[in-house]
Amino acid sequence: MSAIPFDNSYARLPGGFYTRLAPTPVTDPGPIRVNTALAESLGIDPDWLVSTEGTRVVAGNDVPQGADPIATVYAGHQFGSYNPQLGDGRAILLGEVPGRDGNRRDIQLKGSGPTPYSRGGDGRSPLGPVLREYIVSEAMYKLGVPTTRALAAVTTGEQVAREEFLPGAVLARVASSHIRIGTFQFFAAGQKFDLLQLLLDHVIARHYPEAAASENPTLALLEAVVSRQAQLVANWQLLGFIHGVMNTDNMLLCGETIDYGPCAFMDDFHPDRVFSSIDHGGRYAYRNQPGIAHWNLSCLAQTLLPLLHDDRERALALAQEAIDAFPHQFLAAHTRGMAHKLGLVEITADDTTLVEDLLQLMAEHQLDYTLAFRRLADLADEATLESGGVSELFKIPDALLPWLARWQGRVAEDTMNSSERQACMYAANPAFIPRNHLVEEAIEAATRNGDFAPFHQLVDVLAQPHQYRDDLARYATPPGPHQVVRQTFCGT
Ligand code: AMP
Ligand code: MG
Repeated sequence: MSAIPFDNSYARLPGGFYTRLAPTPVTDPGPIRVNTALAESLGIDPDWLVSTEGTRVVAGNDVPQGADPIATVYAGHQFGSYNPQLGDGRAILLGEVPGRDGNRRDIQLKGSGPTPYSRGGDGRSPLGPVLREYIVSEAMYKLGVPTTRALAAVTTGEQVAREEFLPGAVLARVASSHIRIGTFQFFAAGQKFDLLQLLLDHVIARHYPEAAASENPTLALLEAVVSRQAQLVANWQLLGFIHGVMNTDNMLLCGETIDYGPCAFMDDFHPDRVFSSIDHGGRYAYRNQPGIAHWNLSCLAQTLLPLLHDDRERALALAQEAIDAFPHQFLAAHTRGMAHKLGLVEITADDTTLVEDLLQLMAEHQLDYTLAFRRLADLADEATLESGGVSELFKIPDALLPWLARWQGRVAEDTMNSSERQACMYAANPAFIPRNHLVEEAIEAATRNGDFAPFHQLVDVLAQPHQYRDDLARYATPPGPHQVVRQTFCGT
């Protein structure tokens, strides 16, 4: 029996979609961590995955039975400029697994050696970016955000040359699929409309089967993608998550967050916050994320024009209408989520200034975004609060007291009782997020000292982000002045 139950539908598409090639073996594979629950849900024995055999598969040293390794091709707008030829330059799609829940998933090795799409890069990944992606993607999953996931990570025993030599690693990443807006752009720009249609049919069958029954399946697909992305980016905004590199090749048709390169969660709130070292103009700043998603979706819509309608004018009108739905859908999702964060059944037009004023106060007084909301959740029902919650970590500043009184007045009119309100707010306002300084600390310990304990502890704490524990206060505490991370770097 095969150790991984593969069934590779993308590799059955014609050769124009990919280059068939195996990962490049490494010198000395060593296990870092295996995601037991995820492995089991995919029908993979976690004990096998962490064994020497499994570790060799993740490292790319053995190609398991049933795999059909490929590097996929795509294009994309990077910081607004179109690049006609990108692709898996440091990743290999091993294959797909049907999954016990009936959801098909890709298993991709990231850092697995050069491919025809490497553009001079080495196809490898240092340990740091692998650990970062493991920590943050799994945290996002536990926070309820659609995301690619980390199945396993291994060391390679090799050094990777960057500004300095760094230990190398490979991540086995799982996604509902790795099909990007940039994948559509590749075939549309090349005017390969038969392949574009095949890609569309594949995406509909795989991710949006309900669209197939629609009068215009292309339009139904576009509308569904718009809706999933609106929901996704609303999730990011509500959590204070900054993706950092929202290029069209980093946006998936399936609606999962992908590419944990220069991403970061905000500590103190500011709408203009940018972390990425290469985002000089702030294109992907926190406040720009919804607008950029909208822009990226218009790129997708453009690729679909020839398939939307034979009449070009009609196709344009349909596409425009579909993408025009984004702002409203985003706002609706964001408002719903903000209501939960504030412990309200709904946010009405009258509440708009309540929300805006809170965010403005947070920005003015550099309040920690996560803890401010969590402290409000503590205050929602002081009767049931056994310990002090996060009160030791976050003091409500005097400047917030008038706002607090307004909020307390408003919740008093709401239909939820206080314990329901608190439960709702705790579920919407995590105590633990992957704080940048803790992620850095875990990466540094592993990279400099071969000490993986901080990495494992962080992943473990973030598995229960909504349940505050006094003994884990360190993981909820904002960075001290010398710990603040101001810049993040992409994984390359
Ligand atoms: P990203 O910034 O991760 O979205 O990557 C952008 C493009 O650069 C993709 O086509 C990647 O495959 C490629 N790339 C990034 N890092 C490397 C690397 N170390 N070696 C080869 N290609 C890379
Ligand atoms: Mg990418």
